[in-house]
Amino acid sequence: MVAPLSTDGSRASDSHTPLGLSPLPAFSSLTDRPIRCHIPPLLGASVEELTQWVQAQQQPAYRGKQLHQWIYQQGVRSLSDISVFPKSWRESLAEVPVGRSNLHYRTQAPDGTVKYLLRLADGQIVETVGIPSFEANSKADWGAALPVARAATGQLAESDAPAVDIQRLTVCVSSQVGCPMACDFCATGKGGFQRNLQRHEIVDQVLTVQEDFGRRVSNIVFMGMGEPLLNIDNVLGSVRSLNQDIGIGQRGITISTVGIPGHIQRLAEHRLQVTLAVSLHASNQALRQQLIPSARQYPLSDLLQECRDYVQITGRRVTFEYILLSGLNDSPEQAEELANQLRGFQSHVNLIPYNPISEVDYQRPDPRRVQSFVKTLQKRKIAVSVRYSRGLEADAACGQLRASQISQNPVPLMRDC
Ligand code: SAH
Repeated sequence: MVAPLSTDGSRASDSHTPLGLSPLPAFSSLTDRPIRCHIPPLLGASVEELTQWVQAQQQPAYRGKQLHQWIYQQGVRSLSDISVFPKSWRESLAEVPVGRSNLHYRTQAPDGTVKYLLRLADGQIVETVGIPSFEANSKADWGAALPVARAATGQLAESDAPAVDIQRLTVCVSSQVGCPMACDFCATGKGGFQRNLQRHEIVDQVLTVQEDFGRRVSNIVFMGMGEPLLNIDNVLGSVRSLNQDIGIGQRGITISTVGIPGHIQRLAEHRLQVTLAVSLHASNQALRQQLIPSARQYPLSDLLQECRDYVQITGRRVTFEYILLSGLNDSPEQAEELANQLRGFQSHVNLIPYNPISEVDYQRPDPRRVQSFVKTLQKRKIAVSVRYSRGLEADAACGQLRASQISQNPVPLMRDC
């Protein structure tokens, strides 16, 4: 059971219903501004909220369930396409936004990873990644994965695909357009911050990948563009919807943060079963604040204390992410220092060999150096794994695809609603 979560707070001020949706007859009294500017999109709403909404349109309650089913299972993009609704009502709903994005760009890596750029209602572009993983002992290798993923997206007949099964489908979602944290190794951070994503814009990313692959999404990582804890209400609203409306288990959801003072505590208070991942990247404060400007206002000792409290409150261990940058944070001494910081901590360390971005000239360490870092942590009984980013050919680092595509094809933004 999920603790009560706030819904999309950004429109709550003018709400008449829990969703903030005005009754439909008000349409005729609107000015010439597009109607979608006035009605929050339905995506992200619970079955209860949708039921209240249809009842406010003088429709029977069961239509709420139908609406829910058409939005989340059928992937309807316009309410006028809901054939089970009476024709006259359906037509009057044509302008009510469902809240789905449009595909701006799609690219697929040989390992089966698919990257998407999605165009939002105001013309902003966000990056989303679909990452399939395959049966460990099948004949699947990353090369064989390609036709399978193509089959899933309709580019290849199902029968042409070799018999390999996608075991898991993970979606890496963005929580903001751009990011204000400006981490030095991060392509998104180099591009600045535009705005928070709304709840429906996060849920849409997951539905888009699910529809494209033609199979259920099993895991979500908030590791795309943005800092989730700076958009915590919309992130929590989307987690509720992903869990209850789309059926993704909370334990399959990871929220990754660079750490915002007091916000890990706020997340802990919801007592969710999601995994918290904290981007550490350094074993001491001096190096951390060199890589992550916001760390100047958040001493490492305070961050680690908040993480300890998180473990205490939620009973869930914390994952620490640590990008390995050659010659900067990958020495055996730094591995020892990291082990000391995490001594007695219920945690897991994810080492991420750096993905090169064009804006800075950090280097990825060679595999021997990575292995020696792993061994030092293991000797100190720290749970550790190495995570190679998938789809390196397709601008793998966070925000890179968007940066390279937008510089080639600038996207016009629409009038802000
Ligand atoms: N703001 C959040 C989530 C977005 S970044 C956070 O910082 O956790 C998600 C992960 O990708 C973070 O661990 C981040 O440090 C990592 N990342 C960003 N740029 C990278 C790069 N060039 N190579 C490897 N990992 C990178």
